[in-house]
Formats: sequence, C-alpha cells, structure tokens
Amino acid sequence: MNKKRILITGAAGFLGSHLCDRFMKEGMYVIGMDNLITGDLKNIGHLRGDARFEFIHHDVTTYVDISGDLDYILHFASPASPIDYLKIPIQTLKVGALGTHNLLGLAKNKKARILVASTSEVYGDPLVHPQNEEYYGNVNPVGPRGVYDEAKRFMESITMAYHRFHGLDTRIARIFNTYGPRMRLNDGRVIPAFIGQALRGEDLTVFGDGSQTRSFCFVDDQVEGIYRLLMSDYHLPVNIGNPNEISIRDFAEEIVKLTGTDQKIIYKPLPEDDPLQRQPDISKAREVLGWEPKVSREEGMKSTYKYFKNLPKEELYKKEHRDFSDRNRG
Ligand code: UDP
Repeated sequence: MNKKRILITGAAGFLGSHLCDRFMKEGMYVIGMDNLITGDLKNIGHLRGDARFEFIHHDVTTYVDISGDLDYILHFASPASPIDYLKIPIQTLKVGALGTHNLLGLAKNKKARILVASTSEVYGDPLVHPQNEEYYGNVNPVGPRGVYDEAKRFMESITMAYHRFHGLDTRIARIFNTYGPRMRLNDGRVIPAFIGQALRGEDLTVFGDGSQTRSFCFVDDQVEGIYRLLMSDYHLPVNIGNPNEISIRDFAEEIVKLTGTDQKIIYKPLPEDDPLQRQPDISKAREVLGWEPKVSREEGMKSTYKYFKNLPKEELYKKEHRDFSDRNRG
C-alpha cells in the first residue's frame, strides 16, 4: 500500500475534489482542507467515510496545523471565477498570498514537497501569443481581476523564494481554463453559464463581440498534468492547459449544437480587463512531463453537459446562495 500522505487545499472545489479522487486512486492518505466559501462538500461526499480520507474545515489564511507526517501539499484553495473576485476580493488576495505563505511554512516544517496552483492569469491580457513560461505578462494590478492575478504572481514569487532560500522542494503549475463535472453551475464562468442558459431555455450571453479566445482543458487531462508535475523534479512554472483555441462566439455555437436546443446568441458588454486571447504554449509540459491533453473538446463537453443535465432541476434555477457579506472584511 502507498504510505504517502498528501494535504490538498481547496479539496471541496472543482479541481481540488478531482485531485482528491486521483490521489486516493494512487492509494495515498488524503487530507482535504477547505473553508467552503466557494467549495461544496457535495463534491467530496463520496469520499467521506473512507478510512484513507480526512476532511478538515479550515481557512488556510490562518495558521495551518496538521498532525503527523506529510509527503506532499497541493495548494488549490482559491476563488477562481471573475464573479468571485468581485464578491470576495480580499479573501482572493489572502488565500493566494497569506495562504501560500502558511502552506510553504507547513511544507518546510514537514519536509514535504509542495505544488502551488498558479494560473494563466499571471500573463494578464497577454501581448504574446500563445503564452509560454518565459513571457512575463501584461497585468493590471488595480483592475477587478488584479486581486487574483497579483495574488497568484505573489504566490509564484514567494514559492521560488522558499525554494531558493530554504531549499524547499516546490512545483508551480500555471493552470489554463479547465472544465468538467463539478464546476459550479452559477459561478458565472462561461461553460456552466452557457450550459445553464441552454438547459433553462434562455439566450446564450456572449460578452463583447465574442472574438476573445480561450483554450479549454478537460479536467482529467489537467489532473494528469498536475500529477506528473508533482512527481517530476522541475521547479520552474509549467503551463498546463489545452492549446486548442476557440473564440467565445464560435464556442457559443458549439454549445447550441451540443445541447440540441434552439437558443439565440445575444451580446452583452465585455467585462473590464477580460483578456482578448489565451492559449498555452505547452512545449515545456511536453518536454519535461511527457504530457499533453488527450480529451477533445467534443468528448469533454459531452460528459460535462451530461453532468449538468443530470443535476436536480431546482439547481438550475438557484441563484448563487452563498452569503459572502461578513467574510469580505479581510
Ligand atoms: N463569457 C461570456 N458569456 C458568459 C460568461 C463568460 O461570453 O456568460 C466570456 C468571458 O467574457 C470571457 C470568456 O467567456 O471572455 C471566459 O470567461 P470565464 O469567466 O469562463 O473565464 P476567464 O477565462 O475570463 O477567466
């Protein structure tokens, strides 16, 4: 049996819960941690009661205390949707900055290897296309996304400082748009937004003229990339995403076809600082990890659609019910 113990923060979130599944499958003892601000216990409900899984309800922006040994830490706790950044900007900053600091300290204490979840947002609204790891980005620190982008840039910076100064064993994944089952239906991200609209019989809302591009990676591919990065010996940032790029307008048309609905596409104003283009250059991941995505958008979107279609009907009409009010004071 695998005797390794891993701490996964953001365990009740979309990516975190899939990572819990993956490391359970590897036979590791998994400690999932989440403050449940944007995560949902339903995502890990199937793991509770398993003797090799433990859940700790905790906010990593305060001191993190774990008893026993730890071999690995994955820091995946963070709001990850532009709507969240507006609703909980201070939490977004704190989890990327203070949370990362606490987890690096924990990794140092436990002599554990730590992988932090950075993002394509470190490239901001990129002037280089596709984005490779050597590009430093074009980020607006004071715009609405600044709280996320700058926290993640700080995350990378402090992680490298711990690596260089303390010799900590660190990994940095730059995660590009990822989708799949367990995304939050009403978090405003484009895939759940379009599928939710199609299922409710509403028009699909394309922001701007829809010429902005994104490159969507299916969650199973993303998890495999992260797993390989953790097991590699590479300390500098690695892009993990699917280079298959599409404009949001064309993507809306794909959704109409996929759902077999007859939805109209309507246009709404483009949110501030919405990046115009985003596509990972994954040469480094190919070379260092021997990794590339395997799941086509058609296949990945089919299983994602199936997941949303099978959710209880009332979920479709639920507004984001979370009360952020007193968690936003910092
Ligand atoms: N978008 C859209 N309609 C929606 C939601 C999002 O056209 O109902 C656009 C959004 O403006 C952005 C892209 O889809 O250009 C991806 O948005 P998302 O929030 O999923 O993630 P981002 O990559 O911007 O962080």
